[in-house]
Amino acid sequence: MSNKKFDVVVIGAGPAGYVAAIRCAQLGMTVACVDEWQDHNGVASLGGTCLNVGCIPSKALLESSHMYAATASDFPEHGIHARSISVDVKTMIARKDRVVAELTQGISALFQTNKITLVHGHARLSPGKIVKVSERGSSETRESLEAENIIIAAGSSPVRLDRAPLTDGYIFDSAGALEFESVPKTLGVIGAGAIGLELGSVWSRLGSEVVLLEAMDTFLPSADKQISRAAFRSYKKQGLDIRLSARLLSTSVKQKKVHVTYEDTRGAQQIKFDRVIVAVGRKPNSDYLFGDEMELEIDEREFIHVNKYCETSVPCIYAIGDIVRGPMLAHKGSEEGIMVAERIAGQKSTVNYDLIPYVIYTHPEVAWVGKSEHACHSAGIPVNVGMFPLTASGRARAMGATDGLVKIIAHQETDRIIGVHICAAQASELVAQAVMAMGMEASAEDVALTMFAHPTLSESVHEAALAVHNRAIHIKN
Ligand code: FAD
Ligand code: AMP
Repeated sequence: MSNKKFDVVVIGAGPAGYVAAIRCAQLGMTVACVDEWQDHNGVASLGGTCLNVGCIPSKALLESSHMYAATASDFPEHGIHARSISVDVKTMIARKDRVVAELTQGISALFQTNKITLVHGHARLSPGKIVKVSERGSSETRESLEAENIIIAAGSSPVRLDRAPLTDGYIFDSAGALEFESVPKTLGVIGAGAIGLELGSVWSRLGSEVVLLEAMDTFLPSADKQISRAAFRSYKKQGLDIRLSARLLSTSVKQKKVHVTYEDTRGAQQIKFDRVIVAVGRKPNSDYLFGDEMELEIDEREFIHVNKYCETSVPCIYAIGDIVRGPMLAHKGSEEGIMVAERIAGQKSTVNYDLIPYVIYTHPEVAWVGKSEHACHSAGIPVNVGMFPLTASGRARAMGATDGLVKIIAHQETDRIIGVHICAAQASELVAQAVMAMGMEASAEDVALTMFAHPTLSESVHEAALAVHNRAIHIKN
């Protein structure tokens, strides 16, 4: 058994861990990164959930399915007539797999360039800053790594429901839903959060009749209410059947169908689907991470307890990404990775947790940063609000993408922007302008005084800023 020593050992090569490893290496540290992910062929594949079964493959399929839906539904309006169009799901999935492979191999190349030692296997933390590595599924230590500092970035996994156990060909988690070999005629999605909505959209655009069962009585409760209402209307128009206050009671597979029972305000309901996706959230991968006698504070929801600098209860051991508090988003984990690397190097880096952008990659997309209007009201913050509907945007009209709005919330006394909420095509890109403006502590007036190119969707951000002071040009104030 080998025993090697490093300045930093990172556990997990997802967007939190691989970014932390690269930043540590850039800062001159010797770095090892242990990751256990492997592809269908048993080959190590870096990038964690995000690259392998999360952000990237879902966006690849959203892109393909959007193209199909646009060709089928929008082309005739443009005078373009395709004689017959069909979906070859296998080719679509193969393209998605190529996109994933190119990116995961890209991370391997970055590791080589940065001289990061990659160790494929399962890591367990032992006292004395020792990381023991074993083969997946074995408890026998293959090698031991000694570290000055340890960064835990072990990520998260889908929450499983006993009432809907994964069943080959019938009941899938989010990873399984990226591998369908054909378009199911009917598809049930349990959970109408970001992941359920994105995966439901993929298969709905390809022709499935999709029903989303959501236990809560509010749709997207963390979004601004006006935005979630606009998104709900738009999704309904596209044929997504979103049922709120619908709590799953049971599932059973009979005669090649998944029989689902759920409870809503009227009582127990039954519905049959060809396939079901369970998308009810994710849980931190904090089990099987600690060897005997290793004591690290874990909270009641199994997240590793950290302070705002991602320091755990043990000195020189840090935790970042989905395994700690905060939104389970790739960019949040990456920023934490950079902060921790720089702090180990003696710098004073921080993460501004108030400026994390949230995105749901549906059509239109939903994106926001900062506080919603109802959160401002609850906190007693006096605000001015400016809104601009996409119907009034020339570019949105030219694109045929007039669903949605941009909403800017500014402090009534200081005019400082507190929140920006968008439901629009390309909202994921538009929200970056808001993050930058808020990062620079801009006022609504600052954005209003900025010149935006015409015709762009970004002009809607400008008009919403003008609307904060009732001087938008292309709408009645
Ligand atoms: P992970 O990406 O989960 O990586 C953790 C890594 O650690 C894995 O490779 C795992 O195998 C490894 N590991 C765990 N335990 C051990 C161990 N003991 N030893 C060795 N290795 C270990 N986020 C966004 O920001 N934007 C999106 O558009 C988006 N879309 C998503 C779509 C889907 C379908 C899903 C499922 C998720 C999506 N997410 C998205 C969430 C995003 O994927 C996660 O927030 C992100 O991957 C978390 O990064 P991480 O590095 O903390 O953990
Ligand atoms: P997210 O946490 O954003 O990934 O979203 C998961 C969604 O699943 C949340 O909106 C939950 O309310 C919802 N959910 C969780 N459990 C159930 C359940 N048993 N039935 C229906 N929806 C559920």
